[in-house]
Amino acid sequence: MIDFFINKKTSKLLLVGIAVLTFLALLGLAALAVAIINVLANKLQFEVYTITFLALLGFSVVLSITVTVAFYIVAKKAQRLIDGLSRVSAGDYSAEITYGRGDIFSKVYKNFNMMTAELRSVKTLRDDFVHNFSHEIKTPLFSIQGFANLLLEGGLTREEEHKFLTIISEEAGRLGSLADSILLLSKLENQQLLGERAPLKLNSEITDCIIMLEREWDAKHIEINTDLAPVNMEGDGAMLRQVWINLLSNAIKFTPDGGKIDVSLKKEGGNAVIKFKDSGCGIAPGETAKIFEKYYRSPSVKNTEGNGLGLAICKRICTLAGGSIEVRSEEGRGSEFIVTLPI
Ligand code: ADP
Repeated sequence: MIDFFINKKTSKLLLVGIAVLTFLALLGLAALAVAIINVLANKLQFEVYTITFLALLGFSVVLSITVTVAFYIVAKKAQRLIDGLSRVSAGDYSAEITYGRGDIFSKVYKNFNMMTAELRSVKTLRDDFVHNFSHEIKTPLFSIQGFANLLLEGGLTREEEHKFLTIISEEAGRLGSLADSILLLSKLENQQLLGERAPLKLNSEITDCIIMLEREWDAKHIEINTDLAPVNMEGDGAMLRQVWINLLSNAIKFTPDGGKIDVSLKKEGGNAVIKFKDSGCGIAPGETAKIFEKYYRSPSVKNTEGNGLGLAICKRICTLAGGSIEVRSEEGRGSEFIVTLPI
């Protein structure tokens, strides 16, 4: 049935049919009206009878033309939607319908455009994910496969078996966190806003993250100094926590044993300014812009654990929160990451 309306030929046939039927129906009505007038007022003169008949005939013609034109306009507008839907069903998500302000179909077109925009972002998300995931998982997977094969061949000492199983377990864990990071970044890149905003005590949030990572900084005998002013704001606490944890983990990771990390939070104008300053290896001047790119890792830190996604995630979250992140660093002396968020 739907096909009948979608088909261009049959919809034209339908248009002609509607025009003829409307005209006939109105003509019938006109004749009936005239007959009734005639019966009710049988003393009516011939001229009045003719004028009434002609007036009703004219009215029928005008009305049937109006109905036909209205149907034609609606059919044309529906055809644009049908064409758009055909493109989408063929996998072309770039379809968009342009429309004017007073367009009677504007709401439908607007929803259609929103739907294709959403489909485009899901497609990008999927393509990105497939590309990055397949590229980045190869190394840990090869490693897992290699050590599993060695274990299968047998003839290993208990120590060797334990060592290889530990590597397999670590590599599997790394794969898991890589998948989480890729998924999170792909999701963030395809959204324009962060999640629900809720009241946050920023100083408590940062303190919680420092406590959460205590095992790591304590194991390296790193001294942590905090200067956190009480700052309340509204925001997506879970996402911002990703920023604090990433920046703190990096500071711990790139600071040698016995080093120092200063964490501060201040209100400056309408902003919260959060600084993570470490006494670590620092970053070469030519690299400070690159470290926020996906998968970039300084060649000098290749032997430390990581996937090069942490800072890209931080940057995206700060941008989505309407803020910014920057770095100041001196190679061999330490780095300072500064996050600015509107309160
Ligand atoms: P990862 O830490 O997993 O390598 P990130 O995206 O968090 O990935 O960081 C990218 C790179 O930026 C790191 O590999 C390192 O070269 C540099 N970097 C980040 N934080 C620091 C820091 N606090 N000190 C020195 N270098 C850093």
